[in-house]
Amino acid sequence: MNSLMIGVDIGTTSTKAVVFTLAGKVVAHHAVDYPLLRPTPAAAEQDPEQIFRAVVETIRASLQACPAGPTEVVCVAFSAAMHSLIAVGARDQLLTHSITWADNRAAAWAERIRQQGGDAIYRRTGTPIHPMSPLAKLAWLRDEQPGLFEQAARFVGIKEYVFFKLFGEWIVDHSIASATGLFNLERRDWDDDALQVAGVRREQLSTLVPTTHHVQGLTAQMAEHLGLDADTPFVIGANDGVLSNLGVNAIQPGEVAVTIGTSGAMRAVVDRPMTDASGRTFCYALTEQHWVVGGPVNNGGIIFRWVRDEFAASECETAKRLGIDPYEVLTRIAERVSAGSEGLLFHPFLAGERAPLWNANLRGSFFGLAMHHRKEHMIRAALEGVIFNLYSILPAVESLVGTSTSIKATGGFARSGLWRQMMADVFNRDVVVPESFESSCLGAAVLGLYALGRVDSLEVVGGMVGATHRHSPIPKNAALYERLLPIFMSVPVQLADQYRQIAAFQQQIAAPSALGAAA
Ligand code: ADP
Repeated sequence: MNSLMIGVDIGTTSTKAVVFTLAGKVVAHHAVDYPLLRPTPAAAEQDPEQIFRAVVETIRASLQACPAGPTEVVCVAFSAAMHSLIAVGARDQLLTHSITWADNRAAAWAERIRQQGGDAIYRRTGTPIHPMSPLAKLAWLRDEQPGLFEQAARFVGIKEYVFFKLFGEWIVDHSIASATGLFNLERRDWDDDALQVAGVRREQLSTLVPTTHHVQGLTAQMAEHLGLDADTPFVIGANDGVLSNLGVNAIQPGEVAVTIGTSGAMRAVVDRPMTDASGRTFCYALTEQHWVVGGPVNNGGIIFRWVRDEFAASECETAKRLGIDPYEVLTRIAERVSAGSEGLLFHPFLAGERAPLWNANLRGSFFGLAMHHRKEHMIRAALEGVIFNLYSILPAVESLVGTSTSIKATGGFARSGLWRQMMADVFNRDVVVPESFESSCLGAAVLGLYALGRVDSLEVVGGMVGATHRHSPIPKNAALYERLLPIFMSVPVQLADQYRQIAAFQQQIAAPSALGAAA
């Protein structure tokens, strides 16, 4: 009886549901993909109805794939992507699609807010002033589509929409709210000044609830369709970033989680809201006692993909012929060069950059090129540049959380032994790769157990997550990187004006498809 929990993650490319035993073992899972709509180059929207159907389908299909009956399910708990914004009319009808974190149309408004007291708003709300945030999106929408803005009875995020469809209530958890740029972290309430900048009234926003809040009372029809009891608790949960830290068991002091997938992020858990004097980091809620600080980067694994596609066509052809993953071939080529790429640095800012400099004008470059450098140096330098870039967030994070002792590394990059060892050497810390499957789903499920009082603390996750790889720093390499890192980090600071000029030049001559690419 009561032996299963379900974690659902409403992501940008798909919704995933994972059925776990109460000990965290995966029993069944299902995912449904959906497109990111790009009607213009800077827009990145999704259809909320399509996402709602995906949520229902993933829960139904994952439950159908496991032998247990409906009464076995203790809870369904939710994770969702941050920063989405949907305008809803007086009859609860959709007025817009879900405008996602990847949408860049509010860029000019973010800049304007930043210049007009944005710093103080960031320090109260913990969300960097950036076009990703609902704060900037609302200001933009009010300016761009005043008629629609006037018509909107409320503004919500995607998880609120899903809960409304299931239970008829407009509620938002502190975690999703803390990533809107409208939520006062200290007061756990909407921030009146931020609401004014956004041009919205608090009645237009959902009711704030803690991440442990749960709702019951599915309609009989929906319960039957999902394969659940109607009174199964649905725990509202948190955002995908903070739940990923929980799902990889990076919640202890001194533990920093670093993810490098297509993009990347560094995150650590603290016990109270904290922001950075220079605005380099975010602070989002996990529970009342757990807050997650960190920084996101645009330029993660996408850089290796760019190297693969633009730089190494012949190597990829060979790999294809031999039936080997091209990334493995490129990794082997990079291995021929020693740590530090014999003095070649690569700044991976191909997509502008968020943390720690939050400068959309940054651009990529090889620095230090000399006659002795060959293609293999360039490939290795690109891999090192991605790690250097993530390392550059560490001082900001450590200024809040204290010195870190180990790194929990996740994401596609962790498939490469060379890249993992590089992280241990650059960070000069042990790197552990947790055995995680859909870490945000596990994080949600564990938060669900905690919310229902089935466990006393989130620490139970420690018994659920194993490790697949461990790397310790190689002292010789760590010493070389220690010399190169200050050079790497000083270039984007020194060249701010030149980056602005080259970005302006590119925007003037760029094809329309390139505009808005930088975030
Ligand atoms: P997403 O963030 O979209 O979920 P992943 O976590 O799967 O993506 O990460 C994708 C990235 O992982 C790729 O862009 C690439 O940089 C890296 N990657 C994938 N496979 C390998 C590999 N075998 N070796 C090194 N890097 C890899």
